[in-house]
Amino acid sequence: MIPTFIPYGKQNISQADIDAVVDVLKSDFLTQGPQVPKFEQAVANYCKAEYGIATCNATAALHIACLALDVGINDIVWTSPISFVASANCALYCGAKIDFVDINLNSGNMSIKKLKEKLELAKKNNSLPKVVIPVHLAGLSCEMREINQLAKQYNFRVIEDASHAVGGKYQNQPIGNCQYSDITIFSFHPVKIITTAEGGIALTNDSKLAQQLELLRSHGITSNQELMTEKSHGPWYYQQIALGFNYRMTELQAALGLSQVKRLNEFVKQRNQIAAVYDEAFVDSSLSILKPAVNSYSSYHLYIILLPLEKKNQHKEIIEALRNDNICAHLHYIPIHTQPYYQALGFNNGDFENAEKYYSRAISLPLYYGLSNKNQQYIIKKVKEKL
Ligand SMILES: *Cc1c(COP(=O)(O)O)cnc(C)c1O
Repeated sequence: MIPTFIPYGKQNISQADIDAVVDVLKSDFLTQGPQVPKFEQAVANYCKAEYGIATCNATAALHIACLALDVGINDIVWTSPISFVASANCALYCGAKIDFVDINLNSGNMSIKKLKEKLELAKKNNSLPKVVIPVHLAGLSCEMREINQLAKQYNFRVIEDASHAVGGKYQNQPIGNCQYSDITIFSFHPVKIITTAEGGIALTNDSKLAQQLELLRSHGITSNQELMTEKSHGPWYYQQIALGFNYRMTELQAALGLSQVKRLNEFVKQRNQIAAVYDEAFVDSSLSILKPAVNSYSSYHLYIILLPLEKKNQHKEIIEALRNDNICAHLHYIPIHTQPYYQALGFNNGDFENAEKYYSRAISLPLYYGLSNKNQQYIIKKVKEKL
C-alpha cells in the first residue's frame, strides 16, 4: 500500500510547545517582552557562545551580520554555490559584490583547496573578499579550522551560515560557538532542526558585534545612554544612531523556540538514527553519500544521496518516480550562480564545475523527527528499485 505523502522535512510540535505559545498569548507582551532574551540566552548557552540576537528569520540575520561586519559597496563577499539563495543575497542587500567558491564533491561544502586557490589569485588581483560565508550543508560542518587559518592569513571575516546545523558538532564542540568565525547564523524555519515558524538568530562572542546586530535588528534605535550623542531627555527618550530595520522576533516565536530547544538533543539524536538506517541500507549500492569531515557530528537537516555518474541522465526521472510513489524527494540546491538573477549579474553555466556536477546527481530523501521506520523502509525499497 502506498503511504500518504511523505514530505522531505517537517516540524514536530508537542503539547508543551503549544502550551508555551498559548501562555504568551495570554500574557502582557506579544513582542519585545521577556521571551526573546530568554530564547537568545538558551541558544547561546547551548552553543557556548557569548551573545545571541534573535531575528524574524535567518535571511534577516545574514543581512545584519554582513552590515555589522561593515560590508558595503565595493566590498566582496564569497559563499558556496550549493546553498539557498539567501546565503548570497545578503551580500547584495548591502551593495557588495558576490562571488562563489566551488564545493568539495565528497562533502558538498565549500572546498578548502578551491578557497586557497581563489584567495591566492584574488590577492594578486587585489580583489580579496571582506567576508566569506561557509554553509554547513545538510548539517555537516565545513572545515572551520582551515577556513579560520585562511581568514587570518588573508584578512577576511567569517559568517557561518549554519541554517541547517543547530545541534551539530565540530571537533566535539557545538556548531555556533564561533570559535572559528565572527558570527554564526541559524534558521528556525519549520523544515529546519527546531522551529519558531519563521525565525533566525545570530551568535557571536564579540560584544561590539552583538551591539551592532541588536541596533540593526530594531531600526538602529537605542535606549542605551552610553551610545547616545547627548544626555537623555527623560524616560521616553531614545536615539536613532544607525539605519536599521524591523527584523525582530515575536514573543510567540521565542516561546515556541524556547520549548523546542529543550527537545533539540532528542531531535538530532533521532535524525542521526534515521540517517544511520539509510547509510546501512545503501552501503552496498551504487549511490554516494555525503561524508562528514573528521570529528564532526551532523544535525542531519537533510539526507543527501548522489546518483552514480552514469545515472545522472535519469536524475529527473528518478525524483519524479519517487514523487509518484508519494515520496517527496527533493533537491538541495540549484547552484545559485545558475539562477537567472545571478546570470544577469554576469555568472555563467560552467563557472563552478563541481557544484554543477553535484546538481546533476543529488537527491534529498525524507528525513525528519517522527519519520516512521515503516515509511523509511518503504522509501529505501522504492529508491533501490530505481537504481
Ligand atoms: C533556510 C536557509 C536560509 C534562510 O533561512 P530563513 O529563516 O528561511 O530566512 C539561509 N541559508 C540556508 C543555507 C538555509 O537553508
